[in-house]
Amino acid sequence: MRHIFAILAVMLLISAPVRAQPKLQVIASFSILADVVAQVGGDRVEVATLVPAMGDAHVFQPTPSDARRVATAALLVSHGLNFEPWLDRLVAASGFKGPRIVASTGIKPRRMGGHAGHDHGHDHGPATKAGTVDDPHLWHDLPRMQTYVATIAAGLAAADPSHADAYRQRGAAYAAELKALDAWAVAQFASLPVAHRKAITQHDAFGYLAERFQIAFLAPQGVNTDAEASADAVARLIRQIKRERVQALFFENIANPRLIEQIAREAKVKVGGRLYSDALSPPGGEADSFVAMYRLNITRLIEAMKRDS
Ligand code: ZN
Repeated sequence: MRHIFAILAVMLLISAPVRAQPKLQVIASFSILADVVAQVGGDRVEVATLVPAMGDAHVFQPTPSDARRVATAALLVSHGLNFEPWLDRLVAASGFKGPRIVASTGIKPRRMGGHAGHDHGHDHGPATKAGTVDDPHLWHDLPRMQTYVATIAAGLAAADPSHADAYRQRGAAYAAELKALDAWAVAQFASLPVAHRKAITQHDAFGYLAERFQIAFLAPQGVNTDAEASADAVARLIRQIKRERVQALFFENIANPRLIEQIAREAKVKVGGRLYSDALSPPGGEADSFVAMYRLNITRLIEAMKRDS
C-alpha cells in the first residue's frame, strides 16, 4: 500500500510541471484595446472585451453579466480620456479590486472643438471652459500608440511578474510592427496631393489621422445623425461636397448608415465603403485586429480620395 502512495506521489511530482499554468484573465473595455492587449500578452493571457466588436463604447450600457465578468478578471484594462463614461460605475458594481491599466496614461491627446461637426448621437466627454475636449480616439495615431503599447506591457509585467520579460519583449516587437505600419501609411500618402485629401465620415473619430496626414474630414457640421438631421444642414453639406468635389464618403462600422446613404444619393457621390472608427469587426472579419483595421482604413481612404485626382 505504501508503495502505491509513493508511486502516486512521484507521478504527481512528475506531472506538475507539465500541467499548463493558468492564463492571466484580462478584461478590456473595448475590442481594439482587447486586441492590443492580446498582441502584447501572447499566450500568457486570455483577453475578453466588454464592448463587443462593432459596438459603440461611448454609449455602451453594461449589464449585470458584464459586472460578473469584471468581478472574475485578474486585470482590468481601460482606455481612459472619458471614452468609457460607464466604467467607474460598472467597476463599483462588480466589487473588482484588482490591478488596473489605463492605456492612454502619459499620452498627450489632441484637443477637439466642442461638439461642432461630430454629433452623431454620442458624446466625446465633458467640454472644458474653452469648449474643447480631449479626443479619445488616439488609436488612429500610431506614434502615440508606441506609448500605449509600452504602458500595457508594463502593466501586464506588474500584474504577472514571473513573465515580465516576455511581456516587455512582446510589447517591443508589437511596437516595432506598428512603427513599420506607420511608415507604410506615410508612404501611401506621399503620392496623394494634399488638395485631394478630403473625406466625409459620420463621426469625428478620425481627427488623429486628419492631423497626421493633413486630411480634411468634412463632418456634417450641426447635423445630428441619430434620426433628427436638419434638412438645412444636410443641404449645406451636399452643396459643400459638390463645390469642393469631395469623392470620399464613408460609412462607419459603429454608426447608422442612413444619413451617409442620403448624402451620397443627393450629392451623387459613391460611398467609399466602411471605415472602422471605434471598434473591430467580429473575428474572421475584414478588420478583426488593430493592425488589419488600421491598414484597411488607410487603404480605403487613399482609394476614395484618389478618385478626384
Ligand atoms: Zn467616437
